[in-house]
Amino acid sequence: MTDLKVLYETVKKRNPNDAEFLQAVEEVFESLNVIADVHPEKLDDDVLYRLVEPERQIIFRVPWIDDQGKMQVNRGFRVQFNSAIGPYKGGLRFHPSVNISIIKFLGFEQVFKNSLTTLPMGGGKGGSDFDPKGKSDGEVMRFCQSFMTELYRHIGANTDVPAGDIGVGAREIGYLFGQYKRIQNEFTGVLTGKGLSYGGSLVRTEATGYGLCYFTEAMLKDKGTDFTDKTVVLSGSGNVAIYACQKAQQLGAKVVTMSDSNGFIYDPNGIDLDTVKEIKEVRRGRIKEYVEKHPEATYTEGARPWAIPCDIALPCAIQNELGLDDAKELVKNGVMAVCEGANMPTTPDAIHYLLENKVLYAPGKASNAGGVACSGLEMSQNAEHLSWTFEDVDKKLKDIMVSIFNTCRDTAKEYGHPDQYVVGANIAGYLKVAEAMKAQGCV
Ligand code: GLU
Repeated sequence: MTDLKVLYETVKKRNPNDAEFLQAVEEVFESLNVIADVHPEKLDDDVLYRLVEPERQIIFRVPWIDDQGKMQVNRGFRVQFNSAIGPYKGGLRFHPSVNISIIKFLGFEQVFKNSLTTLPMGGGKGGSDFDPKGKSDGEVMRFCQSFMTELYRHIGANTDVPAGDIGVGAREIGYLFGQYKRIQNEFTGVLTGKGLSYGGSLVRTEATGYGLCYFTEAMLKDKGTDFTDKTVVLSGSGNVAIYACQKAQQLGAKVVTMSDSNGFIYDPNGIDLDTVKEIKEVRRGRIKEYVEKHPEATYTEGARPWAIPCDIALPCAIQNELGLDDAKELVKNGVMAVCEGANMPTTPDAIHYLLENKVLYAPGKASNAGGVACSGLEMSQNAEHLSWTFEDVDKKLKDIMVSIFNTCRDTAKEYGHPDQYVVGANIAGYLKVAEAMKAQGCV
């Protein structure tokens, strides 16, 4: 049986500067220790030593010309982490914080997340330290074209299928797809999150946020309650946050906050999502502009919303945005559930604190899997050259999220950690990938 402590030291030695990646590995190992107690025969060296080493890591130069005619250079990444259960699948993130550690942590999480969806998708992630904020459409297009001019040789509909993530939405996917098609002379489902006019799927835009609420709803129902009249504190104002807000409101909750990297808005009357959409989706502006139209709301610069009293917290912005002090504040104010829309937004000490205080905690790799699940449905539609109705896709998404919740709950219980969905998610995600890896031999 693998000694996880020894293996963790090996991972640390091999990735000495990759704090976020090590954090993600440590969290998974904490859950795998539970397998070691209950079913030690299910943890074997052959699988684990390979699981923590990406199959392939690609780093490349992305040169592009800005609107002043000046040459700019960014760094591009694609980490193809694990293809045991399907082609590599996972988003591209364009954000100044992107580096190899961030991409490896995201790729590692994606392996487990994709496994939980029940769809045949391996794990990968990519992106760039390019910051789309303040760039013109022309600059974003030239950057995307340059990025794809290298990436195209590493991806394919049956090899690796990227999609969006922070900083990569419909506009970027369009430019990336156009360039891929031009280079390969092939119209294929090589990217997901495509526009509806060229092979995209209905519900993909809404899927991560809606999926988060479907998971949360299943979790609340399991405890005999639901979203009705609950106060929700939400962070972020990108795609995940906007559609989590929309679905939570549809399910009867009052969402009172949203944020961006500069600060957060608090609207005691409940967020007016049309205003947010106009600012974020149409004008690509900043969240503080909300108070111009809603003077009853407040904007707090340089802070996150976790001190606002709530029943449910939905972190939907970025990694490590909810720390121990925030968790203490939430518990003090009587929070019942923290469900992650972002990837790894809650720090390990904050997770422990929430669990110790009996807060229901839904880990992102389970609760935000709706986006990639819907991408899997987009791949199916592309493969059969059909498009399904909104109702069809939405129902499939909901069924997948409820089944992910059931898997997390049942696995956690089976392994002696009832209500610790993070343990259930990691174990269930791992077992499927491990079985596939073992079956395929030493590859
Ligand atoms: N970036 C999203 C995620 O973290 C979606 C990935 C995809 O659709 O491939 O899961």
